[in-house]
Amino acid sequence: MNLVLLGAPGAGKGTQASLISKKLNIPIISTGDLIRDKIEDNDAVADTLKSYVNEGKLVPDKLVGDILRARVSEPDCRFGFILDGFPRSLSQAKLLDELQIEVDKVIGIEVSDKEIVKRLQSRRICKNCKKVYNLLSIKPRVEGRCDDCNQELMVRQDDNLQVIENRLKVFHEETQPVEDFYKKSGKYFQVFGEDEIQKIEEQLLEIIGDGS
Ligand code: AMP
Repeated sequence: MNLVLLGAPGAGKGTQASLISKKLNIPIISTGDLIRDKIEDNDAVADTLKSYVNEGKLVPDKLVGDILRARVSEPDCRFGFILDGFPRSLSQAKLLDELQIEVDKVIGIEVSDKEIVKRLQSRRICKNCKKVYNLLSIKPRVEGRCDDCNQELMVRQDDNLQVIENRLKVFHEETQPVEDFYKKSGKYFQVFGEDEIQKIEEQLLEIIGDGS
């Protein structure tokens, strides 16, 4: 079962992906995480990637496509995976077809722009294990420290207001047309992302069903 979670940055794709990944026992492929890992390599490609991410722009399809192709060919992906943050444009949805990656279900997580801005400004991530927190909803037990590894929490570089606004603009212009693309194929489902985390998870599991 190959799933796609669609939604604005901060809609809760990562949170829900990690919940359902445990239940379905399939890995999460977050292109945002893969790109941030590559940025830590500090080479020429990293500089190029950073220049897009720090401005809230989409990394060119060629670069993100290569990163995705390499990841899906790893053995843990052979029984399926959850795509978080890909496709983000119509050209990327078509790229999945070209790579012969069949998508079974696409679930859009709907959240208002006002809520997105609030969430992203209060998001914190662990410097070490990258676990995601939110000072309004998913608070760490000890202020500023990760519950799992006790390392420092930080603000993502692209979670500042100017970049957030740009990312939202890119989402509306480039990513929302992807919903219509999948609606036409009958694979598209939607949930309201401002409900309780557990309620959303239950809805996702119901949509996914037994995988058939
Ligand atoms: P995310 O962690 O999903 O919010 O992604 C952070 C940033 O990584 C985005 O603002 C883009 O700059 C880049 N990125 C992530 N996924 C993609 C993608 N599928 N295509 C292009 N750029 C991406």
